[in-house]
Amino acid sequence: MNFNTKVIHGGQQHEPATGSVNVPVFLTSTFAQTSPGVHSGYEYSRAANPTRQALEDSLASIENGARGLAFGSGLAAIDCVLKLLNPGDEVIAVDDLYGGTYRMFTRLFEKYQLKFTFASFDDVSKISALITEKTKLIWLETPTNPLMKLVDIKAVTDLVKDKDILVAVDNTFATPYLQLPLDLGADIVMHSATKYLGGHSDVIAGALVAKTEELGEKLHFIQFASGGILGPHDSYLVLRGIKTLALRVQRHSENGLEVAKYLESHPAVDKVFYPGLESHPQHDLAKKQMKDFGGMVSFTFKSGKKEDAIKFLEKLKVFTLAESLGGVESLANHPTLMTHASIPAEKRSELGITDDLVRLSVGIEDKADLLADLERAFG
Ligand SMILES: *Cc1c(COP(=O)(O)O)cnc(C)c1O
Repeated sequence: MNFNTKVIHGGQQHEPATGSVNVPVFLTSTFAQTSPGVHSGYEYSRAANPTRQALEDSLASIENGARGLAFGSGLAAIDCVLKLLNPGDEVIAVDDLYGGTYRMFTRLFEKYQLKFTFASFDDVSKISALITEKTKLIWLETPTNPLMKLVDIKAVTDLVKDKDILVAVDNTFATPYLQLPLDLGADIVMHSATKYLGGHSDVIAGALVAKTEELGEKLHFIQFASGGILGPHDSYLVLRGIKTLALRVQRHSENGLEVAKYLESHPAVDKVFYPGLESHPQHDLAKKQMKDFGGMVSFTFKSGKKEDAIKFLEKLKVFTLAESLGGVESLANHPTLMTHASIPAEKRSELGITDDLVRLSVGIEDKADLLADLERAFG
């Protein structure tokens, strides 16, 4: 099955009792047994629920994995991965991380004696020097948020091929339409399904996909034992979103490129961060690793002034000033004051997240309206 078919049919069956074409929302906590321990395969909805199961099978299908798991949020999915580890284990993570991931690593899990090293993956060969006997997990995000840096996933998985180290990739920004980390050798894919998978800014959800059944089983045990599952209604919404994922990301990518080119040619703009631009330092890697370049675009102002970024954001009308991304509607965000406020100022400036940085989640509206909105906001 090809991707555009998988988003609609991958892992899906018509409901057997009635032939319902869509999976029903199974609003039930428990399932009747005919004799103690004799049941349909479902016992209690924390362990498995048919609506969540349909989503989990879809996730496994679209990411080319063995097992999908759906969680109450993207962070609950990350939490599940970290619980594979033991005190004393070490994690190497890409430095330009989603703020909430950074907060979880440093403020929740360091106290359980996990050690996190944050590093630039621009030159993957330098990562070897950071690997120790205790390294058990490499955590990647590509493209990163908000600076759209890329990591060469294949180079990283090749580096640790013979070692007992898992590679997990947060594939939220790219989506499986653009990039398939498991095919590039990764062990786990993670999503904030709140973003492109759900796609309509109407649900908070998370996902994991494991490359092997064995790893999928370990993660399912943690999901079951910790309880961070996605409810049936929200599972239905994400499954519904996935059906249009290919169409949406195609349009996000078309609009994203138009917006990036427009910004690059604008006299008030200094830098534009978008992997689809030839000026992006990793454009060649983007072409190799991704099918297209998506809808996330960040930029800075020539003036370098925070006030200019704020004025610009206040004037937007079609773009909504809001956190989050990946929905059909265009959103704009000021990382310093909004999504990345939890990262210490010193650390932010080290990474290049300056006060004049604006991040856009370019939606699927008409391009002309989006460009006109940006033009008005610069004026
Ligand atoms: C939003 C986001 C998360 C966290 O997901 P939630 O669904 O908000 O818990 C993790 N990684 C990235 C890249 C995100 O954008």
